[in-house]
Amino acid sequence: TISMAAIDKEGKIAAGTSTNGASHKIPGRVGDGPIVGAGAYADQEVGACGATGDGDVMMRFLPCYQVVESMRLGLSPGEAAENAISRIRRKYPAFIGAIFALNMLGEHGGACHGWTFQYSVRTADMDDVSVFTVNPVVAS
Ligand code: ASP
Repeated sequence: TISMAAIDKEGKIAAGTSTNGASHKIPGRVGDGPIVGAGAYADQEVGACGATGDGDVMMRFLPCYQVVESMRLGLSPGEAAENAISRIRRKYPAFIGAIFALNMLGEHGGACHGWTFQYSVRTADMDDVSVFTVNPVVAS
């Protein structure tokens, strides 16, 4: 899965997710990638989010929509991502997945479960990406 969010030079935000359906590659499967709010979501007033992992589980929670709405209520990107991952984990303790979030200030964060997740960030003044490592959310 490749999931991305970007803020352009005019301050417009967008997000998108493309997937090969890694572990569920069966004919006719749609997956979470193209479902708005599941694989990705963006709102100009708040920020954006992208997801990867067990899409058949994660799509039931629209986690990217959840993350953006949590940021709207004041959570940081990392807090919002952790909250969304925790909601899924409570119902599906064995799921594997991750989320990143970006707000309109350019602040970002991530959360994951079942694996250690890495995402990269690049801003206009950087020559290369910086890679951030996120440790799995623990039971709360
Ligand atoms: N979420 C994707 C899917 O279930 C897989 C992935 O993120 O690798 O299709």
